[in-house]
Amino acid sequence: MTEYPSDRELVRLAREGKDLTRSEIIRLLSLSESDAETLLYPAADAVRSEAVGDAVHLRGIIEFSNCCERDCLYCGLRRSNARLNRYRMAEAEILAVARQIRDAGIMTVVLQSGEDSFYSRDMICGLVSRIREESGLIVTLSIGEKTPQDYQAYREAGADRYLLKHEISSAMLYRLMRPDSTPGGRLRCLRELGRQGYEVGTGNIVGLPGQTLEILADDLLLMKALDADMLGIGPFLPHPETPLAISPPGQMAPTLKTLALARLMTRTTNIPATTALGTLAPDGRLKALRAGANVVMPDFTPPSYRQLYEIYPGRNLASDPADFLKQLHDQIVKLGRTVGTDTGSRKK
Ligand code: SAM
Ligand code: SF4
Repeated sequence: MTEYPSDRELVRLAREGKDLTRSEIIRLLSLSESDAETLLYPAADAVRSEAVGDAVHLRGIIEFSNCCERDCLYCGLRRSNARLNRYRMAEAEILAVARQIRDAGIMTVVLQSGEDSFYSRDMICGLVSRIREESGLIVTLSIGEKTPQDYQAYREAGADRYLLKHEISSAMLYRLMRPDSTPGGRLRCLRELGRQGYEVGTGNIVGLPGQTLEILADDLLLMKALDADMLGIGPFLPHPETPLAISPPGQMAPTLKTLALARLMTRTTNIPATTALGTLAPDGRLKALRAGANVVMPDFTPPSYRQLYEIYPGRNLASDPADFLKQLHDQIVKLGRTVGTDTGSRKK
């Protein structure tokens, strides 16, 4: 009869770099909260320290448009949400915020939006190249599924990184949740971005209705197979103006377990303590930083727009970036960590 290792032994093997099988991942996702606290998170934290060091890298995010042509069931920006006031920031406004990010000593700007074809290929390229010229910031784009020619043009204009979560590994659940996008198309975009030399970010949402532990395990295996450089893992938070309004939110423990396993399975990736975790619970970001995360993305979107970037409700709208950064620095120091002083690119 096969001798299965204990949970403790399995975590120890994962910490040493064992390739986890699907059933082993499911087993670790099923750990009790107390076993996750005492075994899984410390192992992920140790691997984080060895593989990427103790620096927490900051990326300033600008949510420059809340207009979206897609209709994902879970997202408050979906085109069918007629109650949302829509905005688009002008280039000059975006450039001014990019300067603020640089002046705060942050080296990367993340430009995020709904899928909004108002911003043509030329507009995005102009924006990227002007940010590069003016501020020297590393530019990360997170503007959805585009053509290979678009990705190439953005890259030539100076974009270095691209965030596009695969979102959901189950083709069936994907089609249900993202009716006007296909899992194959999304994966083609991710592979194209990798071919073009971007640092690629992918990731999932934890706790969507219909999601099983098997699907979560497949999400993790997909993140590893894609060899992505950044992994965004956040809880599902229901928005009242979507078809998922009354679905329960994703929970802290499964999200942290997924994040910790992502660290154990991919070692050198950059993993943010996501805004969604910070929205789920005030100490969510800190917990993530102790369970394998090494990146935080402070929101620099001007407040009048930020309140309209309602992917989900409850985001901290009041905090000024300077106050948030001060608090964050203090928390990072308390954790015995440092704030990153280089570009924080993935070191494979
Ligand atoms: N439109 C682009 C895209 O979909 O890739 C970028 C912007 S989109 C708002 C950024 C991320 O928000 C998505 O990748 C998705 O995972 C996340 N998101 C959307 N609705 C959410 C919700 N209700 N709860 C948690 N995350 C959500
Ligand atoms: Fe649009 Fe992205 Fe929201 Fe989907 S997740 S509705 S593509 S902003």
